[in-house]
Amino acid sequence: MHEVSIAMGLIKMLEDETKKAGVSRVTKVNVRIGELTVCVPDSLQFAFETATVGTVAEGAKLNIEEVPAKGRCSNCDIEFHVEDAIFLCPQCDQIVSEIISGRELELANFEAE
Ligand SMILES: [Zn+2]
Repeated sequence: MHEVSIAMGLIKMLEDETKKAGVSRVTKVNVRIGELTVCVPDSLQFAFETATVGTVAEGAKLNIEEVPAKGRCSNCDIEFHVEDAIFLCPQCDQIVSEIISGRELELANFEAE
């Protein structure tokens, strides 16, 4: 269960952040999930709801922003959407030298009481 470990990671981040901020209850959580993390939003919602029970984020609303996967070709110097894990430049067929986005797994921000 990929999403469960992602949810656990988010909760860990939340616990660190809330401790720093001195809040005891999180009401809303905004996260950014890259396409390349192969995370299913619905599964993450479910995993998050389950994993937050008994934590500062119990009952918090999870808002998921999906970040498209983008690569850059050093040959043509163009950026493009990477699909189906085939990292080839659409212009010259060279293997993508750099993945710009799509691997995000970030806690963007959260709202707390
Ligand atoms: Zn190219």
